[in-house]
Amino acid sequence: MAYRAPLDDIRLALDAAAGLSDLIADGTLQGVDADTADAVLEGAAKFAEEELAPIDAGGDTAGSKLVDGKVVTPPGWEAAYKAFAAAGWSSLSGTEDFGGQHLPHVLASSAIEIWCGASLAFGLCPLLTQGAVEAIRYAATPELKARYLPKMVAGEWTGTMNLTEPQAGTDLGALKTKAVPQPDGSYRIFGTKIFITYGDHEMTPNIIHLVLARLPDAPAGTKGISLFLVPKYLVNADGSLGARNDLKAARLEHKLGIHASPTCVMSFGEKDGAVGYLVGEIGRGLNHMFVMMNRARLDVGMQGVAVAERATQRAIAYAKERKQGRAAKTPAGAMAPIIEHPDVRRNLMTMRALTAASRAICLATARELDISERAADPARRASAGNRCALLTPIAKAFSTDAGVEVASIGVQVHGGMGFIEETGAAQHYRDARILPIYEGTNGIQAIDLVIRKLPLEGGRVVAAYLSELDATAMELSASNADGFARMGRQLAEANAALNQATQWLLTHLAANPDAALAGATPYLRLFGIAAGGAYLGRGALLAARGAAPGEAGDRQTALAKFFAETFAPQAGGLARTVMEGASAIPAADAVAFAT
Ligand SMILES: Cc1cc2nc3c(=O)[nH]c(=O)nc-3n(C[C@H](O)[C@H](O)[C@H](O)COP(=O)(O)OP(=O)(O)OC[C@H]3O[C@@H](n4cnc5c(N)ncnc54)[C@H](O)[C@@H]3O)c2cc1C
Repeated sequence: MAYRAPLDDIRLALDAAAGLSDLIADGTLQGVDADTADAVLEGAAKFAEEELAPIDAGGDTAGSKLVDGKVVTPPGWEAAYKAFAAAGWSSLSGTEDFGGQHLPHVLASSAIEIWCGASLAFGLCPLLTQGAVEAIRYAATPELKARYLPKMVAGEWTGTMNLTEPQAGTDLGALKTKAVPQPDGSYRIFGTKIFITYGDHEMTPNIIHLVLARLPDAPAGTKGISLFLVPKYLVNADGSLGARNDLKAARLEHKLGIHASPTCVMSFGEKDGAVGYLVGEIGRGLNHMFVMMNRARLDVGMQGVAVAERATQRAIAYAKERKQGRAAKTPAGAMAPIIEHPDVRRNLMTMRALTAASRAICLATARELDISERAADPARRASAGNRCALLTPIAKAFSTDAGVEVASIGVQVHGGMGFIEETGAAQHYRDARILPIYEGTNGIQAIDLVIRKLPLEGGRVVAAYLSELDATAMELSASNADGFARMGRQLAEANAALNQATQWLLTHLAANPDAALAGATPYLRLFGIAAGGAYLGRGALLAARGAAPGEAGDRQTALAKFFAETFAPQAGGLARTVMEGASAIPAADAVAFAT
């Protein structure tokens, strides 16, 4: 089934949740205007629909393979990548000094949704490259930047992130890869990294690996970790490619989904050591990586939105075609398309509502990231930085959980055919499942939200955000539009539950951290529900003012009401789980965990 980029829904979310028109009007986006924004969205949609969506299912079936030491990507992949780079899409958010277009995150994130909606496995490659570009731009020497960044920004070379090792996943402090200093100032890297996305391929003449490693005399733990740039082919002073570096993809992982994306076990230094160059300061490798963490996590949240949107489109199309049983208005002797059954429509609305809420949360986060980087006023930048830090774990975890949930409902809507690969519903479910795991598991996002983000500025950052959610509920309550007052009341109740759970966590965090941490995941869900409901409500308010594009306004209003009816009531239960649920979690050695 063809993919259609949901441009009107994205445009509406950009205005309702990210305030794009305001950012353009007040100059924060530094010259980007509405026409540019539209051209980016339209162009990204055309490329995704025409070039990426058609190769996605074939990529899933063929997968990437390791043949005679080389990673072979599926048919059509290399041509699509080259077309992607040639069209300038790789350089969308790179800064101008290295040939990028420096477009704001609100637009780059929307483009990521569109590309990953067409093909999640394809979209990962530029996404990882962008992460590597940001880390190099932030921390590397001018010489390294000049030698590597222009080609990476242009998409002529791709980039990878080499963090994970068999014994060091969430706990990167346990990593063992060694970096041995050389007389010429370079390093030799020895070690094995696992799960490295696009760790090797033949789509570009070079691949630039960012590798976390420790010097021989480094202290244990995270303080001993440094960051290194390790090219697949060494690069001569004139920019030409030199010798092959001592690194290779030793194996490709056989995995549940995103089959076209090669997930590599990378071996560094089987001979003399892979030549690497220090990026930033010794011992500050993790800090340098974390510079681009907000953005990387937001991008993965956007992948959750993307797969949810794709699964929803497929499920709606199927539900209109598939006929089973009789619905209320079915003529005698006929069968009804399953979309006429209320339970199926509830499923489809759940899919649409979770997708729209996640998109809004992610774009609201992108807005803060843009303001934090671009606003002229330092106080406004700092405040947006804090808001972005608060929202990022929610954008990542709520949206990727939504991606899995929506893709799972998509399988359900297809019935038995959902379990059969040919409908494509199963692929979305398989593909989506990685999203809550990589770029910091969703459990870690929830912990980050509770431990680090709630206490920001003594709780004032979260308090300011919660009062904005209340203001939206009040605006809805005051509206005369049909059903808006009810929506306002429901959202106000959800906000009250979130407020209560937030106060409880802030009070108990220090004295009883285990109880607070036990509630972190339901708390993040609660936060996402309150935030998502408010953004959808804002979209409905825009639509009521006649300021929404096409049919998107009516759709948004229906979704906002559905979300307030269906999800907002869950907030009270989640708050109770946060505040009371810890006592029901047994100790690690309890009989409940006997194996
Ligand atoms: C397809 C794929 C692509 C990937 N791409 C890359 C890549 O390009 N580069 C890269 O470096 N890595 C990559 N990864 C690795 C990924 O980031 C890790 O899998 C992830 O960080 C989790 O680490 P882990 O698998 O070791 O799980 P573990 O750390 O072993 O975690 C297992 C479980 O325990 C929980 N847990 C662990 N520690 C804690 C704690 N302190 N508190 C509470 N709960 C905890 C986790 O939430 C999780 O549920 C990829 C993985 C996959 C599968």
